[in-house]
Amino acid sequence: MLDNEASQDEEEYLNSHIDSCIVCFEEYNLEKEIRELLRSKVNKHQVPGELVTSIRNKIIESV
Ligand SMILES: [Zn+2]
Repeated sequence: MLDNEASQDEEEYLNSHIDSCIVCFEEYNLEKEIRELLRSKVNKHQVPGELVTSIRNKIIESV
């Protein structure tokens, strides 16, 4: 399917880009860390976007 091909291409592009781009690499890992943090702390509860943003800002400030 065209949609699948497109998203696979995008994923491959993103993966190779992240390997060579520190900005996106950090951004990507930051998102991942936040999601894991929220998953472990807020078990199966809906996390408001506001909370994600405030945690994200705290992490960015601490870097
Ligand atoms: Zn980049």
